[in-house]
Order: sequence, then structure tokens, then C-alpha cells
Amino acid sequence: MKVWICFTVFLSALLAGVSPAAERPNILFIFCDDHATQAISAYDGPLAGLAPTPNIDKIAEQGMLFRRCYVTNSICGPSRAVVLTGKYSHLNGFRNNGDTFDGSQETAPKLLGRAGYETAIVGKWHLKSEPTGFDHYEVLKGQGQYYNPRLLTNGKMVNHEGYTTDIITDQTLKWLEQRDRDKPFFLMSQHKAPHGRWEPAFRHLDFLEDVDVPEPPTLFDDYSGRSKAASMHEMGIADHMGDHRLMLEYSSKFTPEQFKKFDGFFRPKNEAFLAAKLEGRDLTRWHYQRYIKNYLRCVKAVDENVGRLLGYLEDHGLAENTIVIYSSDQGFYLGEHGWFDKRWMYEESFRTPLLVRWPGVVKENVENDTDLVSNLDFLPTFLEAVGAPVPEEIQGRSLVPILKGDTPDGWRKTHYYHYYESGGHGVPLHFGVTDGRYKLIRFPEKEIDDWELFDIQADPLELESRYGDSTLEEVQRSLKKELTRLRGQYELPEGELD
Ligand code: CA
Repeated sequence: MKVWICFTVFLSALLAGVSPAAERPNILFIFCDDHATQAISAYDGPLAGLAPTPNIDKIAEQGMLFRRCYVTNSICGPSRAVVLTGKYSHLNGFRNNGDTFDGSQETAPKLLGRAGYETAIVGKWHLKSEPTGFDHYEVLKGQGQYYNPRLLTNGKMVNHEGYTTDIITDQTLKWLEQRDRDKPFFLMSQHKAPHGRWEPAFRHLDFLEDVDVPEPPTLFDDYSGRSKAASMHEMGIADHMGDHRLMLEYSSKFTPEQFKKFDGFFRPKNEAFLAAKLEGRDLTRWHYQRYIKNYLRCVKAVDENVGRLLGYLEDHGLAENTIVIYSSDQGFYLGEHGWFDKRWMYEESFRTPLLVRWPGVVKENVENDTDLVSNLDFLPTFLEAVGAPVPEEIQGRSLVPILKGDTPDGWRKTHYYHYYESGGHGVPLHFGVTDGRYKLIRFPEKEIDDWELFDIQADPLELESRYGDSTLEEVQRSLKKELTRLRGQYELPEGELD
């Protein structure tokens, strides 16, 4: 009887065009919001050592770290829509955070569900419409808050009390406990953190309190040497943080007991700050320290919860057959160019972390700093990893060969970017292309109507646009040509905004 059941399972799997369930890996996709590579110690940036990420670093030690994972549109909702569909914003229909995701289209949970996977999402969703295609969903409403979240749970709103980062993991673990053990799983565990406004867990309020966090060299950027675009920003640590981002006011709806603890920590420090009446660079420096410490405190809770998930896999014999992926919807500015927030095609928010552990397939402790990969590639990677076919209309490419250490012929040499949400935090619409060394950015709106060209190797901080520089004439010409080619390849509406 048992043999017969196994045979029919094998046969139906074969008919579905996939390999039998027992051999197929689970996928645990841990996705954060606004977690910059600079705040992951494994990336070895200026905050390495201070960034409290031992568990995330462990994924890198046991797998592959990508240094050139670039997003297609550096903002929350649009990035999530790209991950779910494997398509650029203009095709999946979610260009701006104000849009509503069309849940009738083909997505990761539907494709993996049809491949025999049990599918679930817990945590941040941020696509406005109700999730579709998942066997189980439990998602924050909008941005959610850091304390006492409400989770829309398979159509029903459920209130929780406690710290959201912990609760998202609690609920992820609960789902793992009650899942259908006859099927492999595809599980998206998605944190709100470390998105602003950065309210740390009580246990981390003191973390880094006595440390002076190093400032990035461009904290006092004057935006000279570029088009006027960067100077139009409204994401300055000096001028645009507002009281909520500085913890001079709080965003979460605390219980009275929680408020006492939270306010008990911040109030005396806030009073001292207000009494000091800081000005100019001293004020900016205080803002930066307040910001970066709370940001890293929020990261610390994420990391601890990554540790809980890895521990569960280990304790339940799942570590060997589960692919663990850690990423974020985009990068973020941690004071570089004087900014918080994201959106720009400049490196810090264009780049996003990508760490993949897949025992027996991905070698341990490998860094990939050459291949241009993208969040566009996540869905085809999931599909190839589970042995399911990749639909033709998906625009990304599976990373599985790269994960196995073998970059396929014809892998992309350039990557196209397009940010649509004109005006958000003062960032104008722009699009562009990078070949990994040079980056060409077009700001088409008439207030700017300009281009920028950076040599990332010579100018990694992107302080001097070389657009129009005669020594780079050939680079500029060929990148413009490439931009046109990519816009055709990715089916951008003809003539749109150029
Ligand atoms: Ca985000």
C-alpha cells in the first residue's frame, strides 16, 4: 500500500513536471524592510562589528553573499510586487506605494502551490489588496506599527500585544508547527523592521547607548558636482526627520505599561536634548546618532528572530533540506549624502542584501561580487530550485546556476532601474542603467531634464557626475544605447517619459 502511495505521488509529481516532494527543498524567504547592506556585518562595511547581525552573518558563512544585488525600483510596495511576479513595475502594475496590487495575476505562491508546495506569508505585505494564492496569510495592515500589531489573518483581523518583530516570528513558527508535513513549504516571513519610525524592543533600548557610531563621510554632502536632483531631496537627517523619527514623539499605540517603559527611557534624554538647543552640524550629528542607534536596535531584534528561525530548522531536522534566503525590499541611506530613506538609484538604496544558504548545493562562505543580480530574479530562482518550469513572461532569470558556482553564458551585463514615485521625499522620477562600473541616470521631468554619469570604481561615493565629460564620451554613448535596448527588451511603453 505504502509503495503504491509513494508511486502515485511520484507519478503525479512527474505529470506536473516536477520532481517528487521528498527530494524537493523547502524555501524560507526572510524579507526585511529597508535593511541596508551597510547594517549587516557580513557585508564588511563601515558599521561592521557594530551592526548586530550574528545570525544573518551565519547565513553568509554557510552560504553565498551577493554584493551586487540591485532592485528595479527602490521602494517598499513596488519591490514586493517585483518579488511576487518576477516582472518590472510597469508590467505588474504596481509602480508607486499608492497603487493597489492586482492579485489576479500570476505570482510566486500560485506557481509554487501548483508545483505541490504549501505556501504562507507572515508579516509585512504592503500591497493594499488582500493577499491571493497563499494557503495561509497573516499580514500587517499597511505599514503596521512596532508594538501591538494587527494582523489580517486569512480574512480576519487579529490583534496582538507585544513587539511586532517578535510576533511575526512567533506566528511564523506557529505556522511551521501546524503545516501539512506531506508537502514541502514556501514560507515568506517578512518584517516591518527596520523601516521607520524606528521603535526598538524594550530589551534593546540601551544597545549602543554609550557608543559614538561613526558618521559616513558624506553626512554633510553639499550636492555639488551633480544634476540638481539630489539637492531637491526631502530626506535630510538635518532637516526632515520630524519628531516621530527622532523618538521625540512615538508612533505605536502603547499599553500604559509599555508607554511607561518606552517613555521612561527616551524622555530624560529628550529633555536634555531640548534644553541643549543644539544648532547646525551639532544638531545634525545628534539626529544622526539618535537615528542610527534606533535603526540598529531594530535590526538587532530582526537578527535575533532570524536566529530563532534558523534554530527551529535545526531542531526539527529541516536545516538540510530548506533553502534560507535573507533579503530586503531595498537598501537604505544610513546618513550617506546626509539622508535617511531610499528611492534613488545611488548605490546605498539601489543595492539590497541577498544571502542564500542551501546545504549541499551552495558552497559555504562564498561571496559573489561580480554578477549583476536583481530582485527580479527571486521568483525564477524559487521555481528552478523546486524543479518547476519558469513561465516565459517572467523577466528575471534563475540564480540557481550562479548559486551552484557557475554563471551561465549570457548573464546580464547591465541592469535597468526605474523609480516612478515622483516627489516622494523630494525624489524625482528617474531611470537608468548600470554595467557594474558605470551608471547612467536620466531625470526626465522638466524641472530637472538632466543626466548623471558615475564611475563607481573611481568615485564610489557618487559625488561627481561625469556626464558630458569628453574622456567618457564612448562610455556615455554606449550606456545610452544600452538604456534604449533595455527599455525595449523589458517592454517599457514606447517613448514614456524620456
Ligand atoms: Ca522598504
